[in-house]
Amino acid sequence: MIQRTPASIEARESSQRPATGTATLQIPEPRPDWQKLMSNAITSPEELLKRLGLPVEPWLKGARAGHGLFPVRVPEPFVQRMQPGNPNDPLLRQVLPLIEESHQEPGFVRDPLGEDDAIQTTGLIRKYRSRALLMVTGHCAINCRYCFRRHFPYGEHRLSPDDRHEVINTLTASPEINEVIFSGGDPLAANDRLLAQWAELLDTVPHLRRLRIHSRLPVVIPQRVNDSLLKWLSESRLQKVLVVHINHPAELDQATRQALSRLREAGVTLLNQSVILKGVNDSTDTLAQLSETLFEAGVMPYYLHAFDPVEGAHHFAVNDDRAKALVRELMEQLPGFLVPKLVRELPGAASKTPLL
Ligand SMILES: *Cc1c(COP(=O)(O)O)cnc(C)c1O
Ligand code: SF4
Repeated sequence: MIQRTPASIEARESSQRPATGTATLQIPEPRPDWQKLMSNAITSPEELLKRLGLPVEPWLKGARAGHGLFPVRVPEPFVQRMQPGNPNDPLLRQVLPLIEESHQEPGFVRDPLGEDDAIQTTGLIRKYRSRALLMVTGHCAINCRYCFRRHFPYGEHRLSPDDRHEVINTLTASPEINEVIFSGGDPLAANDRLLAQWAELLDTVPHLRRLRIHSRLPVVIPQRVNDSLLKWLSESRLQKVLVVHINHPAELDQATRQALSRLREAGVTLLNQSVILKGVNDSTDTLAQLSETLFEAGVMPYYLHAFDPVEGAHHFAVNDDRAKALVRELMEQLPGFLVPKLVRELPGAASKTPLL
């Protein structure tokens, strides 16, 4: 549901629209590198296994089955950080479907967060009093197997100009909302023209203070952090917060650090959210190293999400007692400001719910 179409349709629409009426020859703008990397992402189980030197047996059968439920998608800059030949690589685990995905487990459901019920206006999800999520695009640069949105009906959230108008009207009429969160999909999978338009519209809503962006793109494709992104970010009057999504310290390579540092220089506050995932980061050492690595890169740990019982992702489940014990151990190893808050999103709650 997240990525059914080839990447960056919006970009192509904008650059290939025929020049109207006049003799002016419109030279299409070159596609940015990040969009090429998005559309050249690995999108088949066979290709992913081959790229990492993994044998067809026993991996292909499960990978194909999972791919049929939620397609494989992983861009090259992320693949480069994986260890070839290692089926347990913590980055590979996040993107390679296993046969377990096709096993149904009782209690694992399609919409564990009840988001379907929180849609306020097309594209606007509001559960908490002072902040609202704006679903800028349904696309993602990477498909994470544990994603709680893997079953989300994204097709229904494509925003027309009328929808956009309606979103701004709703925000203007809601003075208690002071922060808009660009979400998705991955909001930075949208092109900068669209995002700049949104940012300009939000600037006109007087009671808004902050623009927050929840995105995995600066990590997955660091080339996404380019001049045109930094330009519209810097031009907005709102304070900017970017919450990246990093689950394992090996996700932070040199290019990612550079991208994050450019964002910081542009005045963006950087936070990280992770999901606790079996076989990826369910050890105190890994989580401690993640926090240390994030801080070195100028990113503050924010949330550690307790596992949500998403259909097809039960093999990542870490139970709450284990998660709590891990965080208690983290508290003994790290300064308080490097310990993320262990939380869960519960349908109907007025905020995230702390587990400790
Ligand atoms: C998580 C979430 C937010 C942001 O919550 P914070 O605690 O401010 O990070 C806002 N809206 C929805 C629907 C959310 O799920
Ligand atoms: S976890 Fe984020 S980046 Fe990954 S598939 Fe889900 S929404 Fe997309």
